[in-house]
Amino acid sequence: MRIAVGQMWQESNTFNRNPTRWEDFANWGIAVGPEIFERYSETGELGGVLSTLRQWPEPPSELIGLARFACWPWGSVEAETAARILKTFDEQLTIAGPLDGVSLNLHGAMAAENDPDLSGTLLELVRKRVGPNVPIVASFDLHANITHKMLSNADLLCGYHTSPHLDSWQTGERAARGLWKILKYGIRPQTIWRKLPMLTAAEYHNTFTGPPAPIYERLKQLEAEEGVLSANVAMVMPWYDAPQLGWSVILTTNRRESRWEHVVDQLSSNCWSIRHDLEAVERFPPAEVVKRALSFSRHPIVIGDGADATNSGCPGDSTSLLRELLAAPKIPHGALTFMVDPIAVAEAYRVGEGGLFDADVGGRLAPEYSSPVRVRGTVDRLQNVEWTLTGHISKNMPVNMGHGAVVRSNDVTILLVERGGPGSSPRLYESVGLDPRKFGIVIAKSPQGFRADYDSFVAGSLLADCPGCASPHWEDMRFDHVNRPLWPLTSIATPSEATWCESGWIERGD
Ligand SMILES: [Zn+2]
Repeated sequence: MRIAVGQMWQESNTFNRNPTRWEDFANWGIAVGPEIFERYSETGELGGVLSTLRQWPEPPSELIGLARFACWPWGSVEAETAARILKTFDEQLTIAGPLDGVSLNLHGAMAAENDPDLSGTLLELVRKRVGPNVPIVASFDLHANITHKMLSNADLLCGYHTSPHLDSWQTGERAARGLWKILKYGIRPQTIWRKLPMLTAAEYHNTFTGPPAPIYERLKQLEAEEGVLSANVAMVMPWYDAPQLGWSVILTTNRRESRWEHVVDQLSSNCWSIRHDLEAVERFPPAEVVKRALSFSRHPIVIGDGADATNSGCPGDSTSLLRELLAAPKIPHGALTFMVDPIAVAEAYRVGEGGLFDADVGGRLAPEYSSPVRVRGTVDRLQNVEWTLTGHISKNMPVNMGHGAVVRSNDVTILLVERGGPGSSPRLYESVGLDPRKFGIVIAKSPQGFRADYDSFVAGSLLADCPGCASPHWEDMRFDHVNRPLWPLTSIATPSEATWCESGWIERGD
């Protein structure tokens, strides 16, 4: 058995005007061929795949590394970079020679400037190279925008079952187990899906305690049933202006039976019925959210800024909350935030540790949503911001946010970083010696996932309502490429009104 593995992972926010370039992937770690095994055997879904392949009753005689491209969520991938990524996979498939199976770890909401479905394009490329009879399995994020192209070129897709995403490793395990079953029993997997004409903001996408919890519980039950290879609901990354944008229900079984059609009908109806609950989020404008945070008697209070979430591909340089924090006369225990601003970082390095910082911060990468704010303070610390992410989104994922500077201005401590990264994890602050537990207010640039990493120690949490590339105010976002009708951009009573939504069994290769 010769099994090839690879990864192409990024969530793209098409409203972030800053493209993702080759050097961004290089910064997060490109691996080609056997380098994948040397560097990423313990990381996220790739780690889950590799550990499971090695534990197969008959482990593959040979594991072949194709390529690993992963980059933190940001703007659409530059066309030239996307072409180079695909070319790398193509070349590695040539080097690989004949294969018995392929495993890919994808995100599923990854857009290039010239391709709204880079995940589907990679699956199509691999399918063309290996032919119709070699099984291809792929993992994807629960926020994938599943497309016909993905499904018709893959034998099996396995998505995360949790949000916050705590099962990246287990999703890799599920995909690898599925590949084993397909090869061992000669299964020809059959996939039925339904596209739903809905998108929802991410704050209540909580599969543990939120409105979707029963749906995801049902998926786990289904996967325990005889004949089911994979059961998934993709709640979609909504800040993704692309055709076929919408939720998907996907079920893959070992044969076509009408009972599975009823299961997909029921799941689809359950998804549609919670759409209003998912949109009924309590958020507060910047001044109000800071005032409310200050009214708590205990600390810390974490504020989730979903509209500038680096976890949703935003630039992370919105000054909406920073401006309010700087204006507050007194913040007991102080406030802690971070800003992506390479120019401000360079200025901090110029004045040096202990130096006086007097410069504009933020509002440069997405000037349509906020403007720079003047910060006068002291440079407390200069340090590279490199750490390992375990928690929401991944396990053992190397993070490199470039040079960092800790600047203190009265009660506000700002970690300035050169590049985006996990805005949901307290490890970001801890990596430069700042303990979020000691502050009065802590900013997480994440709509929901931060709860997995903050809830155990915070005294309270609030959600901000600020402008940004991941704004939940759909009327303010310009969608040019989506199919309509699409709720809530359009008012529709039933999914059947959206005739563009595909539904039914997938014919492979069509
Ligand atoms: Zn996600």
